[in-house]
Amino acid sequence: MDQKELKALKNVLIREKERILKSLSQLEENTQKTSRGNTPEGAGVPTHIAELGTDAFEKNLDLNLTSSEVDLLQMIEESLKKIETKKYGICESCGKPIPKARLRAVPYTKYCIKCQRQQEGVKERKD
Ligand SMILES: [Zn+2]
Repeated sequence: MDQKELKALKNVLIREKERILKSLSQLEENTQKTSRGNTPEGAGVPTHIAELGTDAFEKNLDLNLTSSEVDLLQMIEESLKKIETKKYGICESCGKPIPKARLRAVPYTKYCIKCQRQQEGVKERKD
């Protein structure tokens, strides 16, 4: 792959990474605001166990909602690392170069279309 193409894909990855980091930090802000809102006015009021349980539950809910974003972020980080180590654009399964058209469509992909389909077939994803 030529340097120009690689640089363009790297930029796409970085932009996507920034977008996810921003949305994750916004979510964290919202979670913090909600927790603060639950705190009763006037300090010294003991926090009830039940309240703690709800907070933990809500936090888990948020984590579930963002797990796909976190996954994506991890894939982007790995792709950026691969660009640095010059291993970017190689299918992790068969070791063949991933077609440019596919990288343009999904710059953080780890597999060529053939291997991706095989992976999905094994998992039998129905989403
Ligand atoms: Zn492959």
